[in-house]
Amino acid sequence: MYYRSTRGAVAGQSFEAAVLGGLAPDGGLYIPERIPAVTAEQLAQWSSLAFPELAAELFALYVDSGEITKAELETLATRSYATFRHPDITPIRALSESQRLSVLELFHGPTFAFKDVALQFLGNLFEFLLQRRNAHKQPGDRRDRITVVGATSGDTGSAAIYGLRGKRDISVFILHPRGRVSPVQERQMTTVLDANVHNVAVEGTFDDCQDIVKQLFADDEFRVQYSLGAVNSINWARILAQIVYYFFAYFQAEASGLKRTDEPLVFSVPTGNFGDILAGYYAQRMGLPIRLICATNENDILDRFFRTGIYSKSSDGVAQTWAPAMDICVSSNFERLAWYLARDTVVEVEGHGAEAERARDVEASAVVAAWWTALKSHGGFQVDAATVAKAGEVFLSAKVSNDEMLATICAWYERSAEEHGTPYVLDPHTAVGVKAAEKLRVERSDCNGPIICLSTAHPAKFDEAVERALANVATQVRFSFDDIRPVEIEALAAKERRCEQVPEAEAKLIKEVVRQGLQAEGIAI
Ligand SMILES: *Cc1c(COP(=O)(O)O)cnc(C)c1O
Repeated sequence: MYYRSTRGAVAGQSFEAAVLGGLAPDGGLYIPERIPAVTAEQLAQWSSLAFPELAAELFALYVDSGEITKAELETLATRSYATFRHPDITPIRALSESQRLSVLELFHGPTFAFKDVALQFLGNLFEFLLQRRNAHKQPGDRRDRITVVGATSGDTGSAAIYGLRGKRDISVFILHPRGRVSPVQERQMTTVLDANVHNVAVEGTFDDCQDIVKQLFADDEFRVQYSLGAVNSINWARILAQIVYYFFAYFQAEASGLKRTDEPLVFSVPTGNFGDILAGYYAQRMGLPIRLICATNENDILDRFFRTGIYSKSSDGVAQTWAPAMDICVSSNFERLAWYLARDTVVEVEGHGAEAERARDVEASAVVAAWWTALKSHGGFQVDAATVAKAGEVFLSAKVSNDEMLATICAWYERSAEEHGTPYVLDPHTAVGVKAAEKLRVERSDCNGPIICLSTAHPAKFDEAVERALANVATQVRFSFDDIRPVEIEALAAKERRCEQVPEAEAKLIKEVVRQGLQAEGIAI
C-alpha cells in the first residue's frame, strides 16, 4: 500500500514516510492510494476477534507486509492496548434500551480520553520505526531520533505524553498556556516524570503556544537539526488506529442483539478536527454498513457544510464552549473527506482501467487544491448539490448549543437513574453526540434504529461543566463527584510534578528549552 497527498504533488510514499512525515510536503494530507475492501467472509471471521487481534488485521490492510509484518503489527497492537483498564478496550454501554441509544466508551486508556486509542499505538509505532533504523548503528554513530514538539489546550497533550513516555530515541516537549488548562489536565501532564518528557508552561494563550510550534517547524535549520516531529490529529496512523473501534463496536452490537441483522447502524460522533469521524468514514468505505452523525458544538463549520455545501470559517472566530476539545475554526482532517467527495462527484474523467483511475486521482487533487486555496484567500468555498448529496449518503449532522449540552448531561443522569437505578454521567463532548442523535431521531425518518454515541472522555476530566450541569438534578440520586472520580485521577494530586516555566511566549525561549532539555537527557545534537 502506498500513500499520496490530497494535493497531488506527492505519491508513492511508504506507510513509514506518511507516518513520520505527518503533513505531506505539498501541504496536503496523506491518504492511502486505494481503500481496501472487506468481504462479508472477512467480516464474519473478524467478528469474534479480541480488540488487538482485530486491530492487527485492519492495520495489515493498510501496511505492506514488506514494511511491517503481520506478526509485528500484532505485537504493536497488543502492547498499545495493554495499557487500557477495560478488558474490551472500548466497551458499549446502553443508555436506554427503550430508546435504543448506547455509548461506546473510548476513554479507558491512560488519560481517560479517546485520543489514547490512537496515541498509544502511535508512540509504539514511532519507537518501532526508529529502533529498526538504529538497529545496525555502532556506538558513536548518530542515531535516528525524533523531537516531538506540540501545543495543547488540554486533552491532546496528556494523551501524547502518555503515548511517548519512556520511548527510546524520542523526546517530547508539550507547551501549554500556564493556568489555562483544567487542573486535572495540568496534573495529568506534569506528573509524568520520564526523562524524555518535557512540559512547558508558557505565559500566554493556547494560540500563542500554537504559533510558537508553527514557528519552530517553519525554521528549516532548527527543524532538521532537532529532527522535529508532530503527532497531531492529521497523522495517518492516528486515523488508522481509530478505524478499529467502529468495526469492533459493530460486532459487539450484533453479538449483544443491540442491532438486529440487516438493520443499519448509526454512530454519532462528537467532532472537532474530523479525525474520529473520518475513521468511521474509512470503515464505511471498506464495507461496514454504517452511517455517521457529525455532531458539532457551536463551532459548527461542519454542520453548515453537510447541510448547505458551504465550507466557510465563521466570522466570529472560535467560540469557547463546555466541550473545548471540539472548539475549532476549521477541521484539519476534513480535507481527506473533501478529496473523496471531489473524486466521486466533481471529477469528469471518462473510461476504465488503471490509467483512468490515476487521472481521476490527479483531477481530485486539483479540485481539492483549488478549494483550499479559496479557503485561504476567501475564507471558504462551496461545493455543488451533487457533492452535498453524496456526503449525505453517509453523513448526517446536527449542531448542539452550550445550554443543550449541559441539559443533556442532566437529562440522562435523571433518566438512567430511573431506568437502571444508577445514574450515568456523560462528559460534555459525549453529550453533544447524544443530543445530536436525539435531534436527528425527531428530524428524520431514517434514524429509528440503534444509535451508538462515541463517548470521547471520562466526565471527571471536565468537572466544572459536569458540576454545573448536575447542580439541580431532580432525582433522589444526588450527584457527587466522589462517586465517579477514578482513583487514578484522584491520586494525581499527591504526585510530584515537573514543569518548565517560560515567562514570555517567545519562540527563541522555547528553542532554548528544547536545547537544554535534550542536553539534560544526555543527547548530543
Ligand atoms: C479530540 C476530542 C474530540 C474531537 O475529535 P476530532 O477527531 O478532533 O473530531 C472530541 N472529544 C474529546 C474529548 C476530544 O479529546
